[in-house]
Amino acid sequence: SLSDRLNDTFDRLRGKGKLTEADINVAMREIRMALLEADVNYRVVKDFVTRTKERCLTAEVLESLTPAQNVVKIVLDELTELLGGTESKLVLSSRIPNVIMLVGLQGSGKTTAAVKLAYMLKKQGKSPLLAACDVYRPAAADQLATLGGEIGVPVFRGDGAHPVEIARASIREAVDTMRDVVIVDTAGRLQIDEEMMQEAVDIKKAVKPDQVLMVVDAMTGQDIVNVVSTFAERTDFDGVIISKLDGDARGGGALSVREVTGKPIKFVSMGEKPDSLEVFSPERMAKRILGMGDVIGIIEKAQEAATAEQLASAERMLRDGFTMDDMLEQMKAVKKMGGMKGILGMLPGGQRALNQMGGNLDEAVFDRNEAIILSMTAEERRRPSIINGQRRARIARGCGLTPTDVNALMKQWGEMNKMMGKVRAMAQQQTGGKKGK
Ligand code: GDP
Ligand code: MG
Repeated sequence: SLSDRLNDTFDRLRGKGKLTEADINVAMREIRMALLEADVNYRVVKDFVTRTKERCLTAEVLESLTPAQNVVKIVLDELTELLGGTESKLVLSSRIPNVIMLVGLQGSGKTTAAVKLAYMLKKQGKSPLLAACDVYRPAAADQLATLGGEIGVPVFRGDGAHPVEIARASIREAVDTMRDVVIVDTAGRLQIDEEMMQEAVDIKKAVKPDQVLMVVDAMTGQDIVNVVSTFAERTDFDGVIISKLDGDARGGGALSVREVTGKPIKFVSMGEKPDSLEVFSPERMAKRILGMGDVIGIIEKAQEAATAEQLASAERMLRDGFTMDDMLEQMKAVKKMGGMKGILGMLPGGQRALNQMGGNLDEAVFDRNEAIILSMTAEERRRPSIINGQRRARIARGCGLTPTDVNALMKQWGEMNKMMGKVRAMAQQQTGGKKGK
């Protein structure tokens, strides 16, 4: 992948100590190839490499004590800049209802993004209304109605009416039903065509959206540049949502969007679930691409996951040892962070590790372990050491698994408990051995 290639380049630089102009040239050539192979537009690549190289080839960098680190830093800066520099928040006006219109090719992920956006706004205390203006795709309105139902957001559908009329009527509906944001989901075509463009222009004229967002599939390669340019010319838009960034897309097309259109990327969509829409952060994305891991992402997720209760339980664990309830808590926290895949994917080098493992990461083991712990008694969870053969058999029956599964979990617990003992010993040493027991 792009990250792997850039990583290798940086590794080679780091291995060198002092850097010469020739070293920089080689590295820049490698970066150029990696970006091109990831489908980044060639003009964008050319400008990017020129800018980056210029900044690297200064005496200040080459003669510094840590030239390789400086080069990495410059590449990171430039990549962040390429992706828009700073976060671009979704700006809602004071008008009620606010109107957000989504445009893009068919299958780009508009309907999915509309629902995710509605979900996000709802969580922020807004009361959105979804407007189903795709009247061409069979069952498009049904799709929206189903998804809207799942997140508890009403969907306005004007069965049989013209899309422009549906859009207009949805605003009236929002006023009548006190909804403060209308998200207009429009139709797309597989390719740019005149009719689609005209319809988008007409809807835009009719409802005067506060924000027009263009949804772009991360898997669209080079062609993305033509698509976004055409939309930019015809309907114009305020920002971009990149969808399907969770797939194994090379993603390079998406990297070009900002540079080509000058429009900010506002959100990225990382899955099919309603909560998988993220505010786009150029720096974070650049770090992710450079394989430096999404450290901020990890911290944010960990903060969401760590409640005061969990901190208290950490203290208790140190005092009383590691119980099955603790293990259950831990597994829940991991799940909250997107499972082992989610965590690994965010760690520096983690994506590489994941790729190497291929499909070998068994997330189902979490579900199995959860089921096993849930079929233990409260006493067994608190004092796992009392679990003998008889109890194991009973627990296995209770959760429909085998004693071997239960043994595997017990072994894992044993290791955790041992480790906890070591941590406790260390903590006691540091506090003079007086505290705790
Ligand atoms: P539309 O034609 O632009 O409305 O596209 P849809 O929203 O119907 O999405 C097309 C397909 O892509 C559907 O199967 C979606 O479930 C899928 N999809 C959309 N966004 C994402 C995403 O972020 N990740 C993944 N994995 N799939 C997505
Ligand atoms: Mg759709």
